[in-house]
Amino acid sequence: MHIEVSGLNKSFGDFHAVRDVSFSIEKGHLIGLLGPSGGGKTSILRMLAGLETPSSGDIVFHGKRVNDLPPQERGIGFVFQNYALFKHMTVYDNVAFGLKIKKFSKSQIRDRVMELVELTGLKGFEHRYPHQLSGGQRQRVAFARALAPEPQLLLLDEPFAAIDAKIRQELRTWLKEMIERVGITSIFVTHDQDEAIEVADEIMIINKGRLEQKGSPWDIYKSPQTQFVASFIGESTIVEDVSKLKGFEEAAGWPGAQALIRPEFIEVGNPSEFRLQSATEQGKIKHVHFRGSEWMVEVEVGNVTLITYRSLEKEMLHPGDEVRVLVHRAYMFNQSDSWMMENR
Ligand code: ATP
Repeated sequence: MHIEVSGLNKSFGDFHAVRDVSFSIEKGHLIGLLGPSGGGKTSILRMLAGLETPSSGDIVFHGKRVNDLPPQERGIGFVFQNYALFKHMTVYDNVAFGLKIKKFSKSQIRDRVMELVELTGLKGFEHRYPHQLSGGQRQRVAFARALAPEPQLLLLDEPFAAIDAKIRQELRTWLKEMIERVGITSIFVTHDQDEAIEVADEIMIINKGRLEQKGSPWDIYKSPQTQFVASFIGESTIVEDVSKLKGFEEAAGWPGAQALIRPEFIEVGNPSEFRLQSATEQGKIKHVHFRGSEWMVEVEVGNVTLITYRSLEKEMLHPGDEVRVLVHRAYMFNQSDSWMMENR
């Protein structure tokens, strides 16, 4: 289902929780709503679902405005964080639930439930009750139940939040494959950037009720449009006066602009590691942390501490070492623009 949202607002009393949010979603895409707690993600999802009425704005599914349609008429399936399975019903009956409401025949129900049980890897578990399943299995039942009535849109609110780390990882991959296979337009809420990056075709970054940016995970990582997005996705250090760094002198013409530097924008090493030493800064190693596959190095340059990674093969650095630091790039932000500055 193609989705078009324009000028969506939601206020709870004096509190403006969702502010002028507009976006469109292509049929079959998997979208991650990502952002800090309280930003408005769940409110957006609930308005799409019809569980909350927008204060203003339009929600259009497949060319039709659905603002006034009740949830059950919107063709939506839900998966929530806390499973919300019926405890007194077996897996079979949980998955069959939506089909019974829609008055499918007994044989239609049987066929569809078995199809989904198979699709979600739950064959053999049909007669178990939720308490006889693991967290991951329960979430797969929730997914099968949501898909059973063949919704056009699947909404998932923090679907993995209650599941422990290892299973969560498996479920993410599983979910992505499953959604691709079914080909259903899906939107999931998360506050976990790794999860959004790994699973979503596109990410929408929501902060303080606003949509800060929408794009593929790679786009958002590579070209953040706001300072919030740059600091929320990936690691970075804020540098107040980047014009003091070699190669960035022209930033002095942009007063008030802040720079963000990602670990991969920097190289740190002994003087012999740099061909063009004149382009490098003097630095002093502050900390070196072992991260399994590489070192994380904190280095002081002037009055800022920059973070970078260093390959295990290279000569070891120690706190206190005098080193050279090459800054390749910086993201620059002022009130209305962002741009990438390169050290040439
Ligand atoms: P979280 O990740 O914590 O769920 P979120 O990004 O999903 O956060 P929302 O749950 O949409 O954010 O909430 C956005 C803001 O709106 C919050 O400050 C919340 O307290 C407020 N809010 C949400 N629902 C209501 C309500 N029914 N009445 C009053 N305020 C509400």
